[in-house]
Parts: sequence; C-alpha cells; structure tokens
Amino acid sequence: MLARNKPQGSIYETGLGKGPANFAALSPLDFIVRAAETYPDKTAIIYGETHTSNAEFYARCRRLASVLSARGIGSGDTVSVMAPNIPALLEAHYGVPMVGAVINAINTRLDAPAVAFILEHSEAKLLIADREYSDVVKAGLARMENPPPMIDIDDPLHEGGALLGECDYEAFIAGGDADFAWVPPADEWQAIALNYTSGTTGDPKGVVFHHRGAYLNAIGNVIVFGLNAKSVYLWTLPMFHCNGWTYTWGVTAACGTHVCLRRVDPALIFPAIHEYGVSHMCGAPIVLNMMIHAPEELQGKLNHAVEVATGGAAPPSSVIAAMEEMGFNVTHLYGLTECYGPATYCAWQDDWDHLDREEQAAMMARQGVIYPTLQSLMVADAETLEEVPSDGKSIGELMLRGNTVMRGYLKNPGATEKAFAGGWFHTGDLGVRHSDGYVEIKDRSKDIIISGGENISSLEVEDVLFKHPEIMEAAVVARSDEKWGETPCAFVTLRPGAGKLSAEEVIAWCRDNMAHYKCPNTVVFCDLPKTSTGKVQKFTLRERAEAL
Ligand code: ADP
Repeated sequence: MLARNKPQGSIYETGLGKGPANFAALSPLDFIVRAAETYPDKTAIIYGETHTSNAEFYARCRRLASVLSARGIGSGDTVSVMAPNIPALLEAHYGVPMVGAVINAINTRLDAPAVAFILEHSEAKLLIADREYSDVVKAGLARMENPPPMIDIDDPLHEGGALLGECDYEAFIAGGDADFAWVPPADEWQAIALNYTSGTTGDPKGVVFHHRGAYLNAIGNVIVFGLNAKSVYLWTLPMFHCNGWTYTWGVTAACGTHVCLRRVDPALIFPAIHEYGVSHMCGAPIVLNMMIHAPEELQGKLNHAVEVATGGAAPPSSVIAAMEEMGFNVTHLYGLTECYGPATYCAWQDDWDHLDREEQAAMMARQGVIYPTLQSLMVADAETLEEVPSDGKSIGELMLRGNTVMRGYLKNPGATEKAFAGGWFHTGDLGVRHSDGYVEIKDRSKDIIISGGENISSLEVEDVLFKHPEIMEAAVVARSDEKWGETPCAFVTLRPGAGKLSAEEVIAWCRDNMAHYKCPNTVVFCDLPKTSTGKVQKFTLRERAEAL
C-alpha cells in the first residue's frame, strides 16, 4: 500500500507562482496604451474645433510625463491641476501617474485660502492652472511660504485672467518626448490620485486613490453604463469631482471619445449632443434640472439614444421622469469621493417595464445595489454594526467595503481610523434597505430632521415639493422649534415664468401628498446656494432657517 504523506500545503501552492507572465499590477494607465494601439486614428478627444486621435492623446500624455520626469517629479510626488473640463486636465490623468506621481485635480470653485491649504497639505511639486482662475491662484500662492512652481494653461477658447507661471502648458509639453519610456507601477496599491472633500466642517480631507481602485471603478463604469468603442462621452461632470467619477479613465478603457466642455451650460450641452452624437453623459441632478428647464428651441429633438447617469445628490423622481420624457435614458448612481465616485447604481429590473412613468421614476430614484466592482454594502447601526431589517422602514447608516474604497485620508490617521471603524467604510449617509435588496438614502446623518421624536427625511419632503408644477428646486432643512424640537423648513425656487405661489399653498400641496407631520412649517422663496459639485449647501440654509 502506498504511504499517504500528509501534504505540506495545497497542491495549488507548488509551482504555480506569481510572475510577470501571469500577474500585472492593475492600473488605468493600461487603458490609454490599448486605445492608442487598437484605434490609433480614432478620435479620443473633441474640444471645440480640435479633434485629437488616440495616438496623439497618448503621445501628449507621454510628453507631459517626460517633462515632469526631467524636472525630477516622480514616485509619490503630487502634481496639482486647476482647470475646467479641458484636454489638459484629461492628459494629466495619464501623464502624471506615468511618472509615479499623484494627480490632484483642484475644485475650480475654491477660494484662495482653500487652494493654498490643498497645495500645502498635498506638498504639491507643481501647479498647472488655467488662466481663468488666475486671481484665486495668485492670492493662494501669495499665502504660502513655499509655493510650488506654476505652469499656465493659456486656452485659446478662454479670454480673461492673467498668465502667472513659468510658461504655457503647450510650450511646457512641446519639448517633451512623445516616445517617453514610462514604467507602469510595480505595485497596484501605489497612489494615483488625491481628491479633497468639500470640508464643510473644518479643513478638507485628502482622499487617496490607488491604481487598483481607479482601474476597477473605471471598469465598473464601463459595465454599468454600457460604454464601448462607439461611445461619445460629454464632459458635463467636473473632472475634479473624484476624477470625473473615474470616467476620465473609464471612457478610454472602452476606447470611446471624450467631448470636453469648458462650461456646463445647456446652451453648449444641447448643440454638442446633436453635433457630435453624444451617447453618454453624467451630471448632478442640478445639471439635469437645467436641461429640463432650458428653452425648447435650444433643446431640439433627440434623434439618437443618450444615456445620462446622475448622482452626487439625490435626484428627485420628477427630475428623472422629466428627463425620460425628453428621451434620455437615466441611470441613477450613488457614491462618495471616498469610494472613487459611484459605488451603487439603480439596476433596472425587467418587471419595471410595465410600470407607468411615475412609478418607474420612483423605483429609479432609489440608490440601488452595489457596483460590480465593489464587494459589499450594508445598512447598519453605526455603533453596533448590526444590519437593519430589509423592510424599507428601518433606518441605518450605509457602509461599504471592497477594492474601490480609498486607501485613507492623507496625513490624517485619526479620521481614516474613524471612517474605517469595524472594518467598514462609514458613509455618513442614512438609508433603508427594501425587501428587494435595493437601498434608498433618506438623508446625510447630519441633515435628518427629528420632529417630535420622529425622523423626517428631507429628501422625501423635497421629492414632493419637486413634483409641484410651479417649483423648479427645493431644499428642506431642520429649524429649531420649542414644541417639536425641530420642524422642516423648505427653501423653494420657482421655475422661470411660474405664476404666484404662496407659502400656504406650498404647505397645502405637501399636506395633500404626504403625512402631515412631515410637512414644512416654514417656506422661504429664494435661489438655493450650491457647491461646485451641484449639492445644495444645507449648512447655509440651516443658518438661514435659524435666523428667520
Ligand atoms: P462632498 O462630501 O465633498 O460633497 P462627495 O461627492 O464625496 O463630496 O459627496 C458624497 C455625498 O453626496 C454622499 O455621502 C451623499 O450624501 C451624497 N450623494 C451622492 N450621490 C447621491 C445619490 N445618488 N443620492 C443621494 N445622495 C447622494
């Protein structure tokens, strides 16, 4: 009989090692190489009159990488870019990481102290900035003890602003090597991007992405949004917002075409959709709302399918319905900077085909299920981490886990540890899970209204307000109240050309459409203050509500 030796380990552990033939670090830099090799002459970027091929796009990124390298910029260095959605910023998403450096796209609406804070905190080795922001950049750099060297973007499509830096971006990369032999990262955990959160409560936090997460989330976008080599993607979402929710890499992963736009304006969006045959675009609900309320002659008639992904804030169901009515196909995404932008999406189910438009929109307004590239999500008690029942009623905090969750906050171990407590990333968003497994956000934890001991979801009240035919936008916040603790206070913007509407009429509309305890007690008519990523600044509204 043969002696049966107890195996030392599994049979799969011998002679089956990791090597260059069967393992490579995941990096979105691979995407541009493939696009340039597969479709060298196909258009990678359209900007104004300029069409750039994939081969040229790749060559320009390599030029940028070579000049960065010649300046001694390399592994672990930060390169900050402050620009609108123009080709230079897209190129930086490839050229900067090609030398192992980290791309830090700065929010273009920030003021000088915030820009100075970011440049200092990230220890930026170089700033590349569009002349449009020269006032803020100049004042920001003046506040710094050791300001980084600066390169201007002198875009012929923009007038105004001043040139402050060493030279123009085009001159900067002109001397670079189009065949620069860059080296892919040895470790996929290497940092690729740094994005600062808005910092509504204290200094902003620097969210660090790695190559692996950027690769995976970009692939997740390709799968969820159905991108392919024929896709034409319009840049109506800021590239500085989580690297354009990683579509900067995702569109090129699919070998699609980027259409760059300096400004998010329906007067530019609709003509671009018609002229270039745009097939995909993303935007915060506010962008969709702008499109819905654009004059009809500007909108024109859609004669091809356009997929629109929206998120960054809850899209009211009426906004989804109106976009669908106009012929757009809407996909709802939810996520945060900390998880590379989109982390969940509202996957369509065939049995929703039979619902009417309003019922469909209500289904689609839910934040849905996890991205194919995230590992898991739970709705749970923030302290005990115990999951709430999937009854559509019990509220818990949304928590995420997986490869597309950030490495952590830069130079902030305390905040990182807190965000990852118990092995889950705590989103700070409160929601429910429905019996079909779909999640629905009710509020950010700090925005929920507690009236007479009952939770009131500001999003739910807003959804009802948005359905009023005369209302264009609405935001609801808590206002202190002696009797109830808090009551909802609604801030409302009427649509252009709307008739007169009184506070009493708005309250009556709410009473007709939802439980009375949720109805706003106060209504203010005004424009809503927004962040550059299209979110209503609820903290400002809370202050205003308290001062009423
Ligand atoms: P910031 O925190 O700087 O505003 P983020 O983009 O990281 O920037 O914001 C993420 C937050 O935006 C989420 O925590 C959530 O509150 C909100 N959000 C994003 N997408 C949605 C969505 N589809 N529905 C509701 N809220 C959303």
